[in-house]
Amino acid sequence: MKVCVLTLFPELFEPFWAHGIIRRAIQADKLAARTINIRDHAAGRHRVTDDRPYGGGCGMVMKPEPLTAALAVAKSGLTSATTLLLSPQGRCFDQAAAQALAASEALILVCGRYEGVDERFIDTHVDAEISIGDFVLTGGELGAMVVIDAVTRLIPGVLGNADSAGSDTFSDGLVEYAHYTRPATFNGQTVPAVLQSGNHAAIDQWRQETALMRTVLKRPDLLTKREFSAAERAILMKWRQDLDRLLG
Ligand code: SAM
Repeated sequence: MKVCVLTLFPELFEPFWAHGIIRRAIQADKLAARTINIRDHAAGRHRVTDDRPYGGGCGMVMKPEPLTAALAVAKSGLTSATTLLLSPQGRCFDQAAAQALAASEALILVCGRYEGVDERFIDTHVDAEISIGDFVLTGGELGAMVVIDAVTRLIPGVLGNADSAGSDTFSDGLVEYAHYTRPATFNGQTVPAVLQSGNHAAIDQWRQETALMRTVLKRPDLLTKREFSAAERAILMKWRQDLDRLLG
């Protein structure tokens, strides 16, 4: 996948490209990442990228000309790219959106600053606005990194088998089961015996059951529209019987 970020702060992305899974994805040619400094496409000696809002009010607005010129450069190498604007007004980003974007050939992410971006740029060039949550950040760069991080780990071949995304929280509508590593006993707390048993069927059953239980406890909202599988129904029925027994 090719990713191009339009930003006033390209240096923020340098450590991001250089670490962890993102770095590995770039080295393995699964991800081609670049930034374009919007300021490089602003006219005049001072390369101004923002101006006062029409109608008055506080704050500055990102001018459409530098953004449009920067986008043209980004698109010249990525004709099939989807252009996304980071914005608190956008659709809330989630795992399903990450999965959909992971199938893209190329993404261009536009990072706003100040009060945001001149609406005419959005109307003409932006395919979708993406929010990373119902709060307001000072700029779109952290949002772009969140999106790129979540999408990159879903590109086939980016994660090795050892850290596959298959059982991750949200991947099948549940939160994930609990993880433990060595030592088997730490501060008097022992790893569940089943995980040390080597019985893979029992381990799978335990993981399925605890994923369901943790979802009930931590994120019951995820279950309201869920169509339970036969195995999950069996687990829920067993809990119901256990609770009935407890309650007499
Ligand atoms: N005045 C704008 C509004 O109320 O909608 C907020 C502008 S915000 C201070 C500056 C930039 O940060 C935005 O243009 C956007 O790129 C980014 N941003 C802020 N909150 C965001 C969020 N929740 N998700 C994604 N990007 C966000």
